[in-house]
Amino acid sequence: MVVIMRPGTAQQEIDRLARQLQSQGLQVGITKGVDCSILGLVGDTTSVDLNKISTNEHVERVMRISEPYKRANRKFHPEDTAVTVGNAVIGAGKFSVIAGPCSVESEEQITAVAKDVKAAGAALLRGGAFKPRTSPYSFQGMGTPGLDLLLEAKAETGMPIVTELMSPKHCQLFEDKVDLIQIGARNMQNFDLLKEVGKLSKPILLKRGLSASYEEWIMAAEYIMSEGNENVILCERGIRTFETYTRNTLDVSAIPAVKKMSHLPVVVDPSHSAGMYWMVEPLALAAVAAGADGLIVEVHNDPANAKCDGQQSLTPEKFDALMRKISALVDLTGKELVK
Ligand code: PEP
Ligand code: MN
Repeated sequence: MVVIMRPGTAQQEIDRLARQLQSQGLQVGITKGVDCSILGLVGDTTSVDLNKISTNEHVERVMRISEPYKRANRKFHPEDTAVTVGNAVIGAGKFSVIAGPCSVESEEQITAVAKDVKAAGAALLRGGAFKPRTSPYSFQGMGTPGLDLLLEAKAETGMPIVTELMSPKHCQLFEDKVDLIQIGARNMQNFDLLKEVGKLSKPILLKRGLSASYEEWIMAAEYIMSEGNENVILCERGIRTFETYTRNTLDVSAIPAVKKMSHLPVVVDPSHSAGMYWMVEPLALAAVAAGADGLIVEVHNDPANAKCDGQQSLTPEKFDALMRKISALVDLTGKELVK
């Protein structure tokens, strides 16, 4: 971190600020220029409040040189992180596909879709039991009985299950029953929830907020990791832009950018990005080509009658066709598709 002092600041004010910063455990180097002095702060500046320093009337500007995240930072952890969920592995050269309906609707539905997506090559089963809906009048998910249906589908197929946790009050339930806990886009900055899942032993799939910057997204992962849970997978799911044609805009740049900033695996959700089933395949292929470590795709056996997100769900047949292309492309990128 660098602090630029106002031109003409008295030496005693510079020394006073330097002492203040030293008392926070930092080393402070003072460089005197012709007009102004610059303080160079060395040490762990992650907990230093930049805005607080800016309130000093003798300070012209404060700049961060190193990122405010440490545990998620590739600088301190150059190797890729791989997250293992049952037999599936995501990251460090291993590519896994998560597939299933937006919401669990019935035993028949979830078991049928689970069998189909497994046969097509998906490694994990998704299905929402607690749904974050924009309208309170829309289907809110089956709740705990939905979790039990996911467990039945798991028992039948052997696939680990992925589902969204919305409230800290369900942490223990999810710790007991769920293999990969999803934090949805709308909760990416629910810091209490992030801290609570940071105390769990289950891996976390952290979706990018609707308008979150890369740094805000990685800082959300840092919240989870700072509580001890280092098994975090980042999920790009499209962001809000000025374009209204698609539900969201898939930010393909996020894949190489975030993988440069962080060692955590990055998966892509082409379903919520596009919001239209016919766009899922091209976006999924783009994500693989750009270096994603996995995909999460909505699949429904009767999209026209789905209780949620039927318009963006693939039929099992379309998902099977997609998996064939994904498999060939994953091979080309030198990664291994885990089934
Ligand atoms: C979902 O995966 O069903 C979901 C609600 O996703 P997001 O949080 O990305 O909108
Ligand atoms: Mn959905």
